Amino acid sequence: MKSANHEIIIVGAGIAGLTAAAYLSRAGHDVLLIEKNETCGGLLNSIQKNGFVFDTGPRSIENSGAVKPLLNDLGISIELLKSQVSIGIENEILHYKSHESIYEYQSLLEKLYPDNEKDISAIFELIEKILKDMAIINEIDNPIFRDMKHDIGYVIKELLPYLFRFIPAIRRINRRKDPVEETIKKMTSNQSLRNILTQHFFKNTPTFFALGYFHTYLDYFYPKGGTGRIPDALEQKIIEWGGLILYDTEINEIIPSENKLTDINGNSFSYKNLIWCADLKTLYRSLILRNLKEKVYQKISIQKDKYLSNRGGDSVFSLYLGIDEPLEKFQSISNGHFFYTPSRKGLGESIWTTLKEIINNFQKTSKEEIMHWLDIYCKLNTYEISIPGLRDPTLAPEGKTGLMVNIFFEYELMKKVQEGGWYEEFKTELENCIIETLSNTIYPNIKDKILFRFSFTPISISNRVGTSEGAITGWTFENPVPVVQSILKMTKSVKTPIPNLLKAGQWVYSPSGIPIAILTGLAAAKNLMKNKN
Ligand SMILES: Cc1cc2nc3c(=O)[nH]c(=O)nc-3n(C[C@H](O)[C@H](O)[C@H](O)COP(=O)(O)OP(=O)(O)OC[C@H]3O[C@@H](n4cnc5c(N)ncnc54)[C@H](O)[C@@H]3O)c2cc1C
Repeated sequence: MKSANHEIIIVGAGIAGLTAAAYLSRAGHDVLLIEKNETCGGLLNSIQKNGFVFDTGPRSIENSGAVKPLLNDLGISIELLKSQVSIGIENEILHYKSHESIYEYQSLLEKLYPDNEKDISAIFELIEKILKDMAIINEIDNPIFRDMKHDIGYVIKELLPYLFRFIPAIRRINRRKDPVEETIKKMTSNQSLRNILTQHFFKNTPTFFALGYFHTYLDYFYPKGGTGRIPDALEQKIIEWGGLILYDTEINEIIPSENKLTDINGNSFSYKNLIWCADLKTLYRSLILRNLKEKVYQKISIQKDKYLSNRGGDSVFSLYLGIDEPLEKFQSISNGHFFYTPSRKGLGESIWTTLKEIINNFQKTSKEEIMHWLDIYCKLNTYEISIPGLRDPTLAPEGKTGLMVNIFFEYELMKKVQEGGWYEEFKTELENCIIETLSNTIYPNIKDKILFRFSFTPISISNRVGTSEGAITGWTFENPVPVVQSILKMTKSVKTPIPNLLKAGQWVYSPSGIPIAILTGLAAAKNLMKNKN
C-alpha cells in the first residue's frame, strides 16, 4: 500500500476532470488526476474494433460556446469536421443543413399528419421563438474563457452589449422549463404526432432544451479520428504540463477532516484541495464524516439525503455493427448523424405503463410478455444512428461501414433481467430486435451483411464509468433536480459544504452534457487558481 501527497487531487478523468486538470497543471499547480479505468475520457470516448473506430459517448459534439474555445485556449489543434444531421420518419428523410431546414421538417410532418396542420403550425411557431433565443445564448463563446479582470476592452465592447440581448433571452427561456411532453400535449391531441416530436428526448426534458435541439443540430462537429481525440489531447497536455495521472485507481473513501482519500486497494492520498469529477452519489456514499464541526456535518448530511434519494437520468442501449457494405450505400440514405423513426405511429403512452408493470411485477411476468413489449419498443422507437465513416472515411476499412445505433433504455429493466439470470439472452434479443427493425425499414437486408456486432447496456455503462442508473447526462428530469439549474449561477454550482472539496461535471448542473462538464471543470479550476493568487 502506498501513500502520496498532492496540492490538488482531481477524481475522475472524464471531460470535466481532464479540463480541470489541464488548466491547473498549466498554471503550475501540483496536480494528481485519479481515474478508475485504464483510459481517460469517461463517457466521452472512442474504441477500436477490427479496424473500425466507434464512439462510446456523444455521436457528434455540440460546441455551445465551450468546446472550441477550450481547444483553442489550451492550444489543442484537432481537425474539426462538419457533422450534419438527417431526420427520417418511415421513407421521408430530410437533411438538416441550415436554419431554413426547420420549415422542411414542418412540411414533412404536415405531409405525414395532414389532419393536424394547424397544430403543427402552432408548434413550429413556438420552436422558432425558442430557436431565436438559443441563437442569442450561443452567439458568443462562454465568457469564462476570458480574463475579464485584465481584458476591459472585451468587457466593454463585447460582453456588456451582449448582456442586453442575453438576459432577456435567458428570462424567456427560463419560462419554458415545463416538460416538453406536457407542452406538446397542450398543442395537439394526436398521440402519434406528440410521440414523433418528443420520444427521442429524455423523459420530461425542459421544453426549451428539447426544442432548442434544432439549433444544436447546426452546432455539431466531429473531431477527425473520433470523439475520443478530445480526451486524448487533454491527457497529453496534462502530462506535458507536469500533471500526474493515476489510472486503474478507484476511490472509495474520503475523509474530509483529514484531507485524505483511499482507493479500493487501501492506497491513500492526501490533498490540500480536492475536485470531485465523478458521480455525486458515489462521493456522498464514500464520505467518512468524523471530527467535523456540527454545522458542517449537518449541511453535508442534508446534501447527502438530497442526492441519494434522487436518481440518474435516462440511459441508452448502444448497438455497434461492422457492415460489409461501402460507405456510399449509407451516404445515399442519410448524413453521418441520423435520427430515424421507422413508424409514424410513435411509441404511444401504454408502452410506459406496461414497462412500469413489468418492472413492478417482474417475477410474475413471463419472458414472452417481456419480449412482446421489447418487440413493440423496437419497432416504434426513434433511433439515433451514427456512422463515423461518413464524417471521417478513415474510421472504417475500405469498402466497409461502422454503424452505431442508440435507443433509450430503462436501467431498472436491465437490472431486473440481470438479477433474473438472463441478461446475455436479453441483450442478444434486443440486438436482434433492432437489427430486424432496421432491416425491414431503412436498411433493407442489413442483417445479411453484418461482419460483427456488440452492444453496451445501461448496466455496462454504469459499471464502466460508475454513473448511477447508467445515466448519461446526470440527473433525471422526472424528479425535482437536486442541483443548480440557472445558467447565471453555473460557476457557483461547483461549491460543496465539504471542506476543501469542489465538484464538477455532469452531476453538478442541469441540463448537462459535454459543454457543462467542460464549463464546470474550468469553473472549479479557476476557483482554486483564484485562491492561489
Ligand atoms: C451514448 C451517449 C450519448 C451522449 N450524447 C451526448 C450529446 O449528444 N451531447 C452532450 O453534450 N452529451 C452527451 N452525452 C453525455 C456526455 O458524454 C457526458 O455528460 C459527459 O461526457 C460527462 O463528463 P463528466 O466528466 O462529467 O463525467 P464522466 O464522463 O462520467 O467522467 C467521470 C470519470 O470518473 C471516473 N470515476 C467514476 N467513479 C470513480 C471513482 N470512484 N474513482 C476514480 N474515478 C472514478 C469514471 O471512470 C470516469 O472516467 C452522451 C453520453 C452517452 C454515453
